[in-house]
Amino acid sequence: FFSNVELVPGDPILGLTEAYNADPRGTKVNLGVGIYYDEQGRIPLLEAVRQVEQSLAAAAKPRGYLPIDGLPAYTQATRELLFGKDSPLLAAGRVATTQTVGGSGALRVGAELLRKALPHATLALSNPSWENHRAVFGAAGFEIVDYTYFDAARHGLDFDGMLADLDKLQPGTTVLLHACCHNPTGADLTVDQWQQVAALLKERQLFPFIDMAYQGFDKGIAEDAVAIRLLVEAGIDSFVVASSYSKSFSLYGERVGALSVVAASADQAKAVQSQVKRIIRTIYSSPSTHGAALVAGVLTNPELRALWETELTGMRERIHALREGLVAKLAALGHPEYEFIRRQAGMFSYSGLSRAQVDRLRDEFGIYAVGTGRICVAALNQENLDYVAQAVATVSRG
Ligand code: PMP
Repeated sequence: FFSNVELVPGDPILGLTEAYNADPRGTKVNLGVGIYYDEQGRIPLLEAVRQVEQSLAAAAKPRGYLPIDGLPAYTQATRELLFGKDSPLLAAGRVATTQTVGGSGALRVGAELLRKALPHATLALSNPSWENHRAVFGAAGFEIVDYTYFDAARHGLDFDGMLADLDKLQPGTTVLLHACCHNPTGADLTVDQWQQVAALLKERQLFPFIDMAYQGFDKGIAEDAVAIRLLVEAGIDSFVVASSYSKSFSLYGERVGALSVVAASADQAKAVQSQVKRIIRTIYSSPSTHGAALVAGVLTNPELRALWETELTGMRERIHALREGLVAKLAALGHPEYEFIRRQAGMFSYSGLSRAQVDRLRDEFGIYAVGTGRICVAALNQENLDYVAQAVATVSRG
């Protein structure tokens, strides 16, 4: 039966980690990952999460099914985190939030919903974007178009190019926007730029699909959600947010995400929610219990929530310090041109390194980065920073 089945190539970024693992050099560094590592090079287990986990284990409960749309305490806390507790949308019952299997699950379930609900299934993606966006929406039957985003020469956002491309899209096109910490470039919009984008989306009747995978990793919980607030303020009455706690709670393997759909009225939100439930019923029926219980346990307990916010701040500040450190060391080695790394947001940086330079980093130094030059700043630490800076300076000399 499977004689015609072709072998497809593996994920290039996961392949990079395999090559890294097989590298015998003691000095090797993996900057290709999409994971936050702590100063010791480990994936953190947050103390707030550990405490909830302990109390859950102490009062072990039977595992019934969750409702199709997930744990109510989890979805409510998520809604409040994304939209703000006092958002008039929440009071009006206009946000339907569903627990999903990670942020990826939210993207797919959201894509399935929109393919049926919108006039045409076209998605506009930033160029570049997280590679899986294209794959997920493509698999859900979307046609994908790109909009200009990154200016490689200036190592930042090409905002004029972005606006010009968005302006050309057909009304009803879905526009995927990274709320903060753009993956892979690290180039984000300012508040003023978000306002302009929101006004354009409204005027051109484009449908915003916000991907929020790094809330709290750049400026703060509310600050990183500013795009959501500005869409509402611009009078856009319907949009979607796919969110993930993989990074902000360091719960990658628990698959904790959410799909939040904003509708024009509470009745519309109810109808949308019924459709979302039908979609989930035919894919995985209902989500799993543990990760959602951990997140809800933290977010609904004021002390643990404060502890989590402190831990999240610690992760964010460490990333900022590593950016500063890398820029300062490169400048000291005669390469002030890497200053832009300081301006980029979140875990990732489009370093501007060419494929040939990335190859040299791997071959000569055992430093692994994505072929596009994307590096994960959170994989740096005080121990490997000097080594990485020296190596980058060496390959930058040509
Ligand atoms: N969106 C973006 C931009 C991401 O970087 C990621 C994770 N790498 C996701 C969505 C998916 O998150 P999750 O791991 O929770 O599925």
